[in-house]
Amino acid sequence: MTTSTPSAWIDAADRHIAGTYKRFPIVLTRGKGCSVWDVNGKAYRDFVAGIAVCNLGHCHPEVTAAVCEQAGLLVHVSNLYYTQPQIDVARMLTANSFADRVFFCNSGAEANEAAIKIARKYFQDRGETDRFEIVSMKQSFHGRTMATLSATGQEKIRKGFDPILPGFRFVPYNDIDALRENVNGQTCAVLLEPIQGEGGIRIPDPGYLHQVRQICDVTGALLIYDEIQTGMGRTSKLFAHEHDGVRPDIMTLAKALANGLPMGAMLCTEKVSAAFSPGAHASTFGGTPLVTAASRAVLRLLTETDILEHCRIMGDRLAGGLRDLARRHSVVRDVRGKGLMVGAEIDGKGADVVMACMEKGFLINCVQENVLRFVPPLVVEADDIDALLSCLDEVLG
Ligand SMILES: *Cc1c(COP(=O)(O)O)cnc(C)c1O
Repeated sequence: MTTSTPSAWIDAADRHIAGTYKRFPIVLTRGKGCSVWDVNGKAYRDFVAGIAVCNLGHCHPEVTAAVCEQAGLLVHVSNLYYTQPQIDVARMLTANSFADRVFFCNSGAEANEAAIKIARKYFQDRGETDRFEIVSMKQSFHGRTMATLSATGQEKIRKGFDPILPGFRFVPYNDIDALRENVNGQTCAVLLEPIQGEGGIRIPDPGYLHQVRQICDVTGALLIYDEIQTGMGRTSKLFAHEHDGVRPDIMTLAKALANGLPMGAMLCTEKVSAAFSPGAHASTFGGTPLVTAASRAVLRLLTETDILEHCRIMGDRLAGGLRDLARRHSVVRDVRGKGLMVGAEIDGKGADVVMACMEKGFLINCVQENVLRFVPPLVVEADDIDALLSCLDEVLG
């Protein structure tokens, strides 16, 4: 291989890697906290964090130490045996949530796949074989496997993959009447994100989750939260639904669960978990000692330090600063967010703003073509935020 310059690398990438992503023309080599560096040594303040994944920042010393130590101890043995880090993470996740049990897997899609399967099996085990429908939300995002794209309320993600799985029905997000009309005796579960991420940082009205829970309770349907993006401290609570205090029956996690190591989890109550008896579902790599050692370090930091409070303060600073910008630049139409999950809806193409920010040394991204999304590491500091705001002030001006 004679690939010494970035352009040769990018050339090789574009010839040999599947074309599923349109990548930006930089090659990143190193990260620390809220910054990453490219192969030329140029620094970027990172408000993407690997898409809401590196919540504790890049290469957090305690997570790195946990991974290094575990890599020298035991990496993988399969789920035919017990391993200590997995047990610790299961204990910590259940101690800090509504859940009694955890199924470990490797990604968000796989966690939602498990949630969909367990919801259906729960009713089939009770002889309710007609009860298989999942009601999910328009503009939602739940993953790219056949079941999870079938549950995703965006045409562009389902397009080309017909026939999609039967038994999914979509209602507008934040529309309680539409939900009430569509949940009935055939509904096995209602699936939703407490805040829609890919859908454009959409926050439902206060009281919405309470009403969703009521509809589920009246009809007997299970409630599934997809907290893959909102979870692990992103919104300044460990899980976003804690803001409303409305518990689900099932919750899915991934993204920030191991701060960048591939890991997913499906959490549920004891009542629901009975449907996953031995042999019902499985994953070879689910919850390996290596990823759960990382996750254990993540959970310790999130539950034993003041990082969630820091996230709340920094989130207010970022959203407040963006609202100031909105007053001065009419192209900013709306600013919404909770904690460090913040979106700014603009007139015109978000991609142009993203590119201009990158040139100035800031990584941001864009969802739904015109919503700038800011999901920096939760350890972001005031000067990072202030620097981003003045960059945006120039770019938008
Ligand atoms: C990212 C995401 C997923 C999919 O996760 P993958 O790990 O990419 O499969 C599912 N749901 C939500 C809300 C997400 O943000």
